[in-house]
Amino acid sequence: MTAMKTSGYTLTFRCVNCGRVEARTHYACESVVSDDQIRARIYEANCEGCGWKGVVCGVSAIQIHSTPDSSREDEEIEQNRLLLAMAGFWLLSFFGVAVWAWHVVSG
Ligand SMILES: [Zn+2]
Repeated sequence: MTAMKTSGYTLTFRCVNCGRVEARTHYACESVVSDDQIRARIYEANCEGCGWKGVVCGVSAIQIHSTPDSSREDEEIEQNRLLLAMAGFWLLSFFGVAVWAWHVVSG
């Protein structure tokens, strides 16, 4: 098993009102949780098809998707930007020194 990061799970249920598989709920957690643990809970789901809202049991979930943690991705992008800015700074410094050295050598 990989140690993947998650911000929770999205559970999909069959709606008891309209029968469509569009009742969804979100279980927020920071680490990976086993399917059994997720299914052992009771959730409040909301149907996107007919607007039904109600309590559903995790056992009846048709699909369980882990939700990627977007905040961590943003952090990674921020770190990459910082690295890029630093690389740019060093590159500019290098060129500055090179130009200065060229001026000194050529008199
Ligand atoms: Zn529905």
